[in-house]
Amino acid sequence: MSEFNPVSQSKIVEEQVLPAANRGNILALTSTCNVRCLFCSHHQNPPGVETYRLNPLGAEQVSRALALMDPEKPVVIGESVTRVMEGEPFTHPAFREILMLIRRTLPRTTIQITTNGSLLTAEAAGFLAALGRVVIYLSLNSADPQRRRQLMQDRHAAVAAAAPALLQKYGIVCHGSVVAMPHVLGWADLADTLRRLDRYGASTIRVFLPGYTRLAPRELRFPSSLWIELHRFVDRLRSQVRTPLTVEPPLISDLQAVVTGVMAGTPAAEAGIKAGDVICAVECLPVAGRVDAFKRILAAAGPVVDLEREGKPVTVKLHKKAGDTSGLVMDYDIDLEDFSRRIRYAVATGREDRPALLLTSELGHPAVRLALARLFPGGAGGVRVLPVKNRFFGGSIKAAGLLVVEDMAAAVRTCLDNDRCARPALVVVPEIAFDFRGRDLTGRSYLDLREECGLAVRLA
Ligand code: SF4
Repeated sequence: MSEFNPVSQSKIVEEQVLPAANRGNILALTSTCNVRCLFCSHHQNPPGVETYRLNPLGAEQVSRALALMDPEKPVVIGESVTRVMEGEPFTHPAFREILMLIRRTLPRTTIQITTNGSLLTAEAAGFLAALGRVVIYLSLNSADPQRRRQLMQDRHAAVAAAAPALLQKYGIVCHGSVVAMPHVLGWADLADTLRRLDRYGASTIRVFLPGYTRLAPRELRFPSSLWIELHRFVDRLRSQVRTPLTVEPPLISDLQAVVTGVMAGTPAAEAGIKAGDVICAVECLPVAGRVDAFKRILAAAGPVVDLEREGKPVTVKLHKKAGDTSGLVMDYDIDLEDFSRRIRYAVATGREDRPALLLTSELGHPAVRLALARLFPGGAGGVRVLPVKNRFFGGSIKAAGLLVVEDMAAAVRTCLDNDRCARPALVVVPEIAFDFRGRDLTGRSYLDLREECGLAVRLA
């Protein structure tokens, strides 16, 4: 079911587009899309979800967004902004003029474009190559034109299928992404698609498990075991391809800094780091997890890295400048530094008899528990963790960004009713579920939780 609010363009620009530019260097250009993917979330939202349709942005609005961006970070085009319906950037009637405007305004900044590839003709690739510093995130999904048509109703499926080769020919960096639909297209199609991206030199390939809501059509639904099957399938394929493959969401059962893959021609590859290596220390200081290892190597100049490979210690040095990419590809576990800062208030407030109740998504729950165990080896007695089910969206949705107040209130009430929880001193809710006004995807404030449960509530 598709539903969007008829809000004025200027309000969407002020409240969604400009904050996304400021916070994440994201340039939302249009909600127009030229295909209709079976898995597209826009067609499965329950009634009441606030989504906005953005008309193609004008040059003046683009200039305002660019003025808010960090020129040291890539300008990100085609990625979703939570409440704005995502679209295909190449459908923008003045896309080339906008790219030239970005290049004039930010001459040394990388332009990162996520596209479904169906308008990525040789002429378009030539233009991007001439523009320079363009990185393409190609949502290929199926390399077989017929199956891609079946999946995405793409009239230009053959153009997209040819895009990996075209990008390689024009020397444009390409990262591939594939929404895995083996229950619809079969495992062989997934393998062929990943191999096609690998053959034409994709730097990385992300394989996504699609989410479906309680309103999704029958053909989209799959058993929860598919998540594990997909991980096993990609694990087997890793040994047959050069390109690092990641699966999202990852399966996180520990905070070991395991290397998932290494991009070719990067400092990590030149230092001889391999997939499966475990990073133990950076500059002689032990690492706390994948995110910690990744961030410290990224930030360091010429870092010395201690690894464990097949049980044996190995030390390497990466020849890179501070802030330059290392070429390591790793799953995201949890940013312990950020997590610790965010829950500091909860830790200070909670006590054994009246704990702070930390609400997490079902997906984030294992990593949050691991983080608490790492930060408080003696036990975080004053903090209890409560995973919240995404009842509102339902289906396979388990992400914190899609939790709503109704879900959180139901989880807290059930916990209190079952007498599993002592009455909390404070409920800490995930900030990612709320916009800058503190409103969830249905427009309710997180403060409504205080009214409903009679408890102090804080965002973290
Ligand atoms: S390309 Fe993106 S916006 Fe367009 S239909 Fe597919 S999922 Fe939806």
